[in-house]
Amino acid sequence: MSDLLKILTVAVETKPRKGDACNHCGYCCLTEVCPVGKELGGGEYGPCKLLRSEDNKHYCSLAEKDDAFIKLIGASTGCCAETQNEVIARLTA
Ligand code: SF4
Ligand code: SF4
Repeated sequence: MSDLLKILTVAVETKPRKGDACNHCGYCCLTEVCPVGKELGGGEYGPCKLLRSEDNKHYCSLAEKDDAFIKLIGASTGCCAETQNEVIARLTA
């Protein structure tokens, strides 16, 4: 298994439900680059190059540098992402 696949597997397994408090699992930024990240060097496709990872926890380096980015990227509003399984569960509930 590749390193990225291992990291993603942990992220999927530890990700909270959408709307719950963020636990820095990293799933969102490992799989997709947000609009701000695309503008500021994160690349077009995940993992975002601006993501900092440490012990299976992941942090936006922009938000760490400047509080203004916390609001811009929506980092204070709970988990914003859904896995494919979560989407299927929501649509078939
Ligand atoms: S929140 Fe930060 S790390 Fe995540 S995709 Fe956006 S710029 Fe990249
Ligand atoms: S917002 Fe991203 S890092 Fe935070 S819990 Fe959700 S998927 Fe994980």
